[in-house]
Amino acid sequence: MVETVIKIAGVSKTYGENKLAVDNVSLSIAKGEFLTIIGPSGCGKTTLLRLINGLADFDSGNILVMNRHMHEWDKVQLRRSIGYVIQNAGLFPHLSVKQNMQFVMSISGIDEDIQEKRAHELADLVEIAVSQLDEFPGSLSGGQQQRVGVARALAMKPQIMLLDEPLGALDNVTRRKIQIGLQKIHNKTGATFVMVTHDLKEAFTLGTRVAIMNKGRIEQFDTPDNIREKPATDWVNQFILDY
Ligand code: ADP
Ligand code: MG
Repeated sequence: MVETVIKIAGVSKTYGENKLAVDNVSLSIAKGEFLTIIGPSGCGKTTLLRLINGLADFDSGNILVMNRHMHEWDKVQLRRSIGYVIQNAGLFPHLSVKQNMQFVMSISGIDEDIQEKRAHELADLVEIAVSQLDEFPGSLSGGQQQRVGVARALAMKPQIMLLDEPLGALDNVTRRKIQIGLQKIHNKTGATFVMVTHDLKEAFTLGTRVAIMNKGRIEQFDTPDNIREKPATDWVNQFILDY
């Protein structure tokens, strides 16, 4: 039986009086899958990720993460159980690469010897040279910074990784390299990946399933092959054609 890690049922989120950012979304995300989410700018992708890791509250519906209702989770514990990667990495500029990778371990009071060992494992996993661990983010390329952002999110060995357009700002060659890196990490860790992208090719290459969003709603949620062969709506058909 397929184990569901994240279950979103009829969830809506409004900003202010009437800005409906997420509109009655339902998604069951299976353990170990690599889900990609794609859709036009402003369609609610970031909001959906923020709802999953408890950074924003929803108005209606239910979200279960690892079989626990959102309201039952201690939000700090929830966020430490989920790796979160944002666009442009969002590294702490005044901390070294190593300190960035160790940040959550450090605030969680993990033993320093273990932190040291883990930083080396993480560098290896994301293909950052050990010699760069003591450098500051400002001296790294965009691609390297993004790798460190991924390492930081992986530090506590989360079962779930949420990635919000992590490769959006990178050139094509670097993007392709890190895509392959992410696939390797996904295979190696067995974690569930949920990744937002605005690149359809990337969504179809990396995603075991793809959720296509439009105006806060899910237009289609299926495998890349099924979406290509049978677009669920005219809108999806056009979205794919326009690409
Ligand atoms: P995406 O990531 O797909 O580009 P977002 O989830 O960031 O979209 O935004 C969805 C909609 O909600 C947009 O119309 C955006 O302007 C609005 N929105 C996002 N965050 C806020 C906020 N903090 N306050 C008000 N409106 C917001
Ligand atoms: Mg966004």
